[in-house]
Amino acid sequence: MAAAQTFVIVGGGLAGAKAAETLRAEGFDGRVVLIAGEAELPYERPPLSKGYLLGSDDRSKALVHHRDWYTEQDVELRLDTRVTAVDSSAHEVELAGGERIGYHKLLLATGSVPRRLDAPGADLASVFYLRELPDADHLLDVLEPGHRVAVVGGGWIGLEVAAAARTHGAEVALVELTDLPLLPVLGPEVAQVFAELHREHGVDLHLGTGIREVIGADGRVVAVVTATGAEIMADTVVVGIGARPALELAEMAGLAVDDGVLVDASLRTSDPDIYAAGDIAEVDHPSLGGRVRVEHWANALDGGPVAARAMLGHDVSYDRLPYFFTDQYDLGMEYIGHAPPGSYDDVVLRGDVAGRAFYAFWLSAGRVLAGMHVNLWDDGVGPVEALVRSGRTVDASKLADPAVPIDQV
Ligand SMILES: Cc1cc2nc3c(=O)[nH]c(=O)nc-3n(C[C@H](O)[C@H](O)[C@H](O)COP(=O)(O)OP(=O)(O)OC[C@H]3O[C@@H](n4cnc5c(N)ncnc54)[C@H](O)[C@@H]3O)c2cc1C
Repeated sequence: MAAAQTFVIVGGGLAGAKAAETLRAEGFDGRVVLIAGEAELPYERPPLSKGYLLGSDDRSKALVHHRDWYTEQDVELRLDTRVTAVDSSAHEVELAGGERIGYHKLLLATGSVPRRLDAPGADLASVFYLRELPDADHLLDVLEPGHRVAVVGGGWIGLEVAAAARTHGAEVALVELTDLPLLPVLGPEVAQVFAELHREHGVDLHLGTGIREVIGADGRVVAVVTATGAEIMADTVVVGIGARPALELAEMAGLAVDDGVLVDASLRTSDPDIYAAGDIAEVDHPSLGGRVRVEHWANALDGGPVAARAMLGHDVSYDRLPYFFTDQYDLGMEYIGHAPPGSYDDVVLRGDVAGRAFYAFWLSAGRVLAGMHVNLWDDGVGPVEALVRSGRTVDASKLADPAVPIDQV
């Protein structure tokens, strides 16, 4: 690789920072420019709704690399800097303010932005979203005994915020459109486990309803009104209703885009000099046999390095199975595989569901598409991954029987 080459990475999240690390680890000695919209050093987001929000982990634990690392590795880190345009024919990106930086290879790792709540009053102060460190700081400032929090959305982030808020002693109501939290992701059998977990910890669940209005006084929230007319008194509202991939730059560059930026198994886009990784990448997955886009930490952690190697001309293929984890109160869970809503026809539970120490598997025509464990850390998701990768049909009754080893079902 010629020393004069410039590789530009847009997006200072986990995928972008890991890509920069891999370029140097692989011996790339050209210019690496990492452009980050946020003012913070690149950091991981899972702690924002877990250890950091609980107050148990400090800020530095979330950082991908400490400040000196960027200097030591000669990575030009441009914090608080937004790329406003990509000119793929000139091989240049344009920054807010007009500066242009030329690239030989470009990685887009622009991540996701939270979906906004569309309801009267949603723009009041003390209606929060949780994506960036300062969002978590605002919440940490207010979460204390007696503070009333209304969480909108019973997905992963909503539930983790509810758990953290309860742990701080705040009063928590959670409003979810479907009949159970996580219902579209996990199906009723497992979603019920999460509903019970939160009820047991004192979360007031309002299920099967949305938000009609956020009521304020003097510019601050005082209550939310559900679509069914229930009025929930609240000092703070936290909205966790999903995110959308930040595709504007990819579209501007004229790249093929669908639900995400379309990339091949080496994470290369329709432009041979532009790559995409992390939340925005919709990968032609070699083993799942279709296009997959996921908004998961592990996908950023593993995808950034793969894109970096591909930028260096290595022959790489992104073959990781989607992997996800959550921590809520004393429940820890890991999920591996790909079983989007509508893709499976059976859910098999194995172990002590009531005691929250079990496996769940999502099957289609007898094949395991995905599985998760709850609080079974000895074996974790290892055996599940092997089952998913094997693609073989299994005996569901054996799978449900903890006496039969998973590799013998
Ligand atoms: C609160 C929270 C908790 C989470 N918990 C989990 C979890 O437990 N498990 C799990 O698997 N996943 C979790 N996730 C998801 C996980 O964090 C994401 O999948 C991951 O952050 C994606 O990384 P990324 O690098 O693709 O994007 P991001 O982390 O979103 O980083 C993208 C960066 O690009 C920057 N950017 C965007 N556009 C531009 C531009 N034009 N110019 C310059 N910079 C730009 C953004 O400012 C951002 O900093 C969580 C997410 C959140 C928000």
